[in-house]
Amino acid sequence: MTPRSATPAATTLPARRTRYLTRVAAFACAAVLTLCAPLADAWGPEGHAIVADIAQQHLDPAAAAQVRTLLGVEGLQRLDQISSWADGNRKERPHTGSWHYVDIPLHANSYVPARDCARNNCVIAQISHFAQVLADRSAAPAARLEALKWVVHFVGDVHQPLHAEDDDDKGGNTVQVQFFGRGSNLHAVWDGGVLRHALGLVPGPNYSFDHAAVQAAAMRLDEAISPADRTAWSAIGGLPALYHQTVSWAGESHTLARDVAYAHLDGRNQAGWSQRYQDLAWPVTRTRLQQGGVRLAAVLNELLGG
Ligand SMILES: [Zn+2]
Repeated sequence: MTPRSATPAATTLPARRTRYLTRVAAFACAAVLTLCAPLADAWGPEGHAIVADIAQQHLDPAAAAQVRTLLGVEGLQRLDQISSWADGNRKERPHTGSWHYVDIPLHANSYVPARDCARNNCVIAQISHFAQVLADRSAAPAARLEALKWVVHFVGDVHQPLHAEDDDDKGGNTVQVQFFGRGSNLHAVWDGGVLRHALGLVPGPNYSFDHAAVQAAAMRLDEAISPADRTAWSAIGGLPALYHQTVSWAGESHTLARDVAYAHLDGRNQAGWSQRYQDLAWPVTRTRLQQGGVRLAAVLNELLGG
């Protein structure tokens, strides 16, 4: 039960800042892939789009109508058009960098808000905050649309195992690995490397991607969800319970990071490791995308339903 260390907030701030800058650098590198090879696998939009596409399939009629109205404020039609907005706008909103993850120490057994989410600067607190704005029918449509963008993105983020841990390595960003012949890092492998390898996706610059290919992949993943899993994952228990649900989702991610992502790094620079790691990581990634999609639909149905 003893956490690896109860890191004081004062010492985590520089690390978080560096981690944020690393991700900003990754964003900048999206436009200059050849100059930034080690970061070329860094955050891509496909995982968020898959979560959004699965959710879109399962909105109830009232929630779907509200989503349509809110997206219409900016002439948009689909949730996958907004699912990476939160990453694309980090440069203009540097204070939002830490909203995308929660730094639960890798060897801690549970989430401790005072340690892991000081001043509400973590994904768990931000999902609840923006859920309230989204659910407020008296709020301005533009504000509710922005809240929708955050919620769609953050429900995806909290399901990514390496967005719910830190091992004094910026959430795996400083753990260098050779993944299928390319220099990468552990965080990037889980952000995009594994799913791109499994689904045959190639990222474009500036968060662009092949929407048709990603939507087709999302539909395949959606159809593979068993009725029992779909029912279990849809049970979010109402808006007041959402905070506890997000803590639970982050806890699942944290356990997967510790027991899968970090537990199989031995031999990571030797031949054959990438495929062995892929074989372990893809089933986990696939399930997390499926859970993220089903749960995002449940959240939106709860917040926007009739
Ligand atoms: Zn994010």
